[in-house]
Amino acid sequence: MSVYEQLTKAELVRRLEALEGQGAFSVPAAPEPLAQSALHDSMERLRAILQTAVEGIITIDEHGIVESINPAAEKLFGFTAQEVVGRNINLLMPSPYREEHNAYMANYLRTGRAKIIGIGREVFGQRKDGTVFPMDLAVSEVRLANRRLFTGFIRDITERKAAELRQHVLYATTRALAEATALTEAAPRILEAVCQKTGWSVGEIWVLDPEAQLLRFVQAVQMPGVRAVEFTSQAPQQTFGRGLGLPGIVWDTARPLWVKDAAQDPACVRALAAYQEGLHAAFAFPILLGTLVEGVIVFFSRDFRQPDPPLLEMFQDMGSQIGQFIQRKQAEAKLADLAQTLTEKNKELETIVYVASHDLRSPLVNIQGFSKELALACERLRTRFGGLNVPNPTAAELRLLLTEEIPEALDFIQAGVAKIDVLLSGFLRYSRLGRAALRLEHLNMNALLAGIVRTLEFQLQQTGATLRLDPLPDCLGDAAQINQVFSNLLDNALKYLDPRRPGHISVSGSVENGRSIYVVRDDGIGIAPAHQHKVFEIFHRLNPALGEGEGLGLTIAQRILERHNGRIWLDSEPGQGSAFFVSLPHLE
Ligand code: ADP
Repeated sequence: MSVYEQLTKAELVRRLEALEGQGAFSVPAAPEPLAQSALHDSMERLRAILQTAVEGIITIDEHGIVESINPAAEKLFGFTAQEVVGRNINLLMPSPYREEHNAYMANYLRTGRAKIIGIGREVFGQRKDGTVFPMDLAVSEVRLANRRLFTGFIRDITERKAAELRQHVLYATTRALAEATALTEAAPRILEAVCQKTGWSVGEIWVLDPEAQLLRFVQAVQMPGVRAVEFTSQAPQQTFGRGLGLPGIVWDTARPLWVKDAAQDPACVRALAAYQEGLHAAFAFPILLGTLVEGVIVFFSRDFRQPDPPLLEMFQDMGSQIGQFIQRKQAEAKLADLAQTLTEKNKELETIVYVASHDLRSPLVNIQGFSKELALACERLRTRFGGLNVPNPTAAELRLLLTEEIPEALDFIQAGVAKIDVLLSGFLRYSRLGRAALRLEHLNMNALLAGIVRTLEFQLQQTGATLRLDPLPDCLGDAAQINQVFSNLLDNALKYLDPRRPGHISVSGSVENGRSIYVVRDDGIGIAPAHQHKVFEIFHRLNPALGEGEGLGLTIAQRILERHNGRIWLDSEPGQGSAFFVSLPHLE
């Protein structure tokens, strides 16, 4: 890299001004031989700077006629110096600046009011092939004895602008998607951001209906000042099959499609409307999920635009972002469906349990009643038989039947029936719980627990255990059901104390992250880790020999807490004791 390539713009300006001071731009009338060689030196230095600078440098006179253009600027605009020198600088500008430039120069020369000169700003240049590009332009004025020159320093900022645009559009897309619950909500914001930043006039989103195998219209936006009403009003009624129309082609190929003039393109179904509304360039790209097309986005412009590779790349990223959003929403919808099905199935099961346990009780009552009658009949037979004169072998057999075999069979029947009765009433209680209405209220837990403790006074005295009640936070709950939960926990704490030592039970509570957390702690027999999760299963008892119970209390407690949007869990060590935790909504 030559030393000139590393020069900053400011340094270039400074050197040019120094050269001007040395008379580099003026032709002296009759130079002395020595002065002539100095002038030659200066000219050479200037040429070297211009030739090697990375920035485009163009000098024009006060009429806007190009005096010189350096190789960097030739490359930038695609013109050779011969094609430009001597012609108006507006050759290198797109409309409307091209038409306005002469008036602007004249105005500046007259009034001294500058828009760019000495200030610098972002403008657009036009290459020989007609393409337009953004550039940074700084102009410095050089005043000579009898005329003024203007030197423009130009830097192509296409890449920087593309990066800015990409960042802006992708940010707008991410934000719109993050804040939306459905694509219909996000779509207008995304399309608007793109249209505003890229100058496209109309944007549309089409989404694939997988069942109908059609692309369906989701949303369209048009920029303010664009009156494409006729065109956009046709869209909602339209659908596209695979390969049909611009969206259909993109669906089929899964690739972006650039159409220079949609109004003339036979593939564009709405070509006529596009023509009438003055829409020309069209650009469509797929919303992709991996390689699957989920939808298509189409933009239309009033201009005839050339394919723009950085823009294509940006849209590709945007398409996959939207594709992921659609997939996420589909997964969420599926999950919600599943949750709904699960709730319905649960309800169904509950009804079955309720009906079965309710209806099974009447035949059970019959069995119970008739087995009692059978027992009575046996009793009567036994009494009568005692007074009869029956031969010995027959008497022995009858006695065995009446005093042992029949009563034993009846005992089994009755024990079985009693067991079924307990189970059925357990089921019934459990299923009734799901049907009972929740009456939520502000619960004073100190009062509620004190009430429970009063009912346990006798058992406490019997076992010699102590019970400590700490101050408890309030919560939100159904008084009867929460009472049931804590009654059961305290009942268990007492029931499963270690008979070899005096028991200690405590109830404490705190508020954590907006929840009231209660702990019922005992120093009883504890629960082995392998059994800890099983205690919440219906009818599960670890040690049926220890005290009365149905194995239903904790199942019901868990169910009650689920309905309260609460939770129950435990921490226990065999031989040390157990702590049951209950979390409930807290009210300030
Ligand atoms: P039940 O007490 O009627 O058997 P629960 O559902 O209340 O039914 O409890 C289930 C089982 O969990 C009990 O049978 C017992 O084995 C165990 N358990 C419950 N609470 C405790 C406790 N505090 N200490 C030790 N074991 C307990």
